[in-house]
Amino acid sequence: MKKNGREEKTFSRRDLIKTTAAGAGAAALGVLGFEDTQAQTRPAKWDKEADVVVIGAGATGLPAAIEAVEVGASVILIDANSDVGGHAILSGGNVALGGGTSRQKKYGVEDSPDRLFADLTDWSVVEPNGFPDYRYNDREIIRAFADNSAPAYEWLLKHGVIFVEKAPDTAGGHATGNSAPRESHAAPMAWPQVETGVPVEGARQTTGSSGIGVIRPLEAAARKLGVQILLQHKMTGLVRERPAAGRVLGITAASQGKVVSIRARKGVIIGTGGHSSNVNFRRIFDPRLTEEYQVAGEPYSYQDASGELAAMAIGASLWGAYNQTGEFGQNVTKAGRIGCQYGYVNLSWQPGSSVFSRARASGLAVRDYQDLILVNRAGVRFYDETQGQYTANNYGSIRPYTQGSYLNAAEVKFSPANFLNAAMAGVGDGSNGGGPIWAIFDADAVKREQWEVASPHVDFAGGYFFSAPTIAELAGSITNKYQARPVPADALAATVSKYNSYVDAGKDADFGKPAPKYKIQTPPFYAAWATPVIHDTRSGLRINAKCQVVDLGGNVIAGLYCGGESAGGFSLHGLARCIVQGRIAAKNAAAES
Ligand SMILES: Cc1cc2nc3c(=O)[nH]c(=O)nc-3n(C[C@H](O)[C@H](O)[C@H](O)COP(=O)(O)OP(=O)(O)OC[C@H]3O[C@@H](n4cnc5c(N)ncnc54)[C@H](O)[C@@H]3O)c2cc1C
Repeated sequence: MKKNGREEKTFSRRDLIKTTAAGAGAAALGVLGFEDTQAQTRPAKWDKEADVVVIGAGATGLPAAIEAVEVGASVILIDANSDVGGHAILSGGNVALGGGTSRQKKYGVEDSPDRLFADLTDWSVVEPNGFPDYRYNDREIIRAFADNSAPAYEWLLKHGVIFVEKAPDTAGGHATGNSAPRESHAAPMAWPQVETGVPVEGARQTTGSSGIGVIRPLEAAARKLGVQILLQHKMTGLVRERPAAGRVLGITAASQGKVVSIRARKGVIIGTGGHSSNVNFRRIFDPRLTEEYQVAGEPYSYQDASGELAAMAIGASLWGAYNQTGEFGQNVTKAGRIGCQYGYVNLSWQPGSSVFSRARASGLAVRDYQDLILVNRAGVRFYDETQGQYTANNYGSIRPYTQGSYLNAAEVKFSPANFLNAAMAGVGDGSNGGGPIWAIFDADAVKREQWEVASPHVDFAGGYFFSAPTIAELAGSITNKYQARPVPADALAATVSKYNSYVDAGKDADFGKPAPKYKIQTPPFYAAWATPVIHDTRSGLRINAKCQVVDLGGNVIAGLYCGGESAGGFSLHGLARCIVQGRIAAKNAAAES
């Protein structure tokens, strides 16, 4: 009875409420908290079983499921969402697999596993703000990636992924290594995009690049091979022989208000995609990342740390935490779309998408940052709006380049100033995060940018877009759940009038914006949400070269594997490491007795 009592307590409550309350497709909405993902006791009877159970049907989980089934294992693949794909299906489909792929060979690009390994462990590569891209990568994990990178590319081809016919390049990659171009681009073909609900048009089907070009072929392959895919099944915990000892035996999941226990005869693979959507968890690494920062991929898919929390509850360790706080590449991005809550530059939710009702607006893309100023929650400018975001190393970023030479840093112009630091450092009022950032502009800017300041482009109702006849009224109108105190009207008015004087003077005396061009003077005036967006998870569970999860004592947790953004020790952005690690995890899990 006691056991049952505990099971009820750990299985039910918040997860079941979350998974039932929001209805179809919304199972992934709830971000799990610490109390939601706990070690589970062995059920009296398992509801389902397979040799290998894979959690998460994204860039790690789909390859893992296919690989496991192809080496003879039976596989159950679960996903919390109502569709497969996670962040991967929303991605740009730019795949940084190198080390000597057939495409690299075809186009005469010299690369090898050793070259790839040396690139991704090169301590000497440093960004302008001082952060080293590769210095803190775990050598064992990178070696496994380097050796399995080119085979993973050929494997994708074999499983139906069609790459755009061109030489490998650097487009879309981050921290992919300096000495060879490694990016190939998955063609979207005629698959409907998640953002719009319809396929891309015409020639772009074979010349564009999109995550649907990776995920839909892999989903088709998995289904054809007999992988059992259970959607709207949210893993709520791992079952281990004893709470902190013995093998991992299976998982529990919440689905449609029920608890499902799934036995894994050989192994469980965590491919849950990281922790950037979990505010408490991400603040372990960077206390500045308070709740106002949205995440690329939301509100389709949430990186809620459930994989990490479940594994930590049975003793797993985290790893490579430095990479998470590293301010480079895509870790945190400038908002590329303003006036909507989810402002990641490459995601524009359109009314045809099943996600639109949650996103509420598609946002306004900014063509020229001369058309607006950005102010913090106190109504004050904080940087030159035309500046970009963190940089990351790619092929050719450093020339000349000698692997491992300290001279690689000689040409880097040190520049600690970066809008993200300014935006996130807070406003000097003792708070941790930087708070909301608002883009302020006038009716003339709307004309120049050819924006339509109405639904579905901007989100008036949700509190992410405001307009008023005067600057003072605009400040007073800003009501948003992340804006703790009203924007002071006098401060905003002073900021605008000072900026207008800089336009007259042709010089931004505060932040050096190059020749500020346009005054903010013609009503109506506008305020649009423009808060930075978090992107990657670059730290997670400790794994070894076989993608086995390791505990706090450095011991392998038998039967538990992890890859992709939920795994630590590797700061490469994106799909490549996930695909490679999913396959490594599956091969090893399926080989367990
Ligand atoms: C907009 C965007 C563009 C990108 N573009 C690129 C690009 O061009 N190139 C590139 O290399 N990378 C890109 N990336 C990054 C890349 O998509 C991710 O790094 C990659 O998808 C991560 O793979 P993953 O398997 O770790 O997680 P995901 O692909 O996110 O998959 C995780 C899955 O786990 C599920 N899940 C989570 N928790 C649970 C649970 N408790 N129970 C059951 N299921 C759960 C989720 O629903 C999700 O489906 C992009 C990301 C975004 C958001």
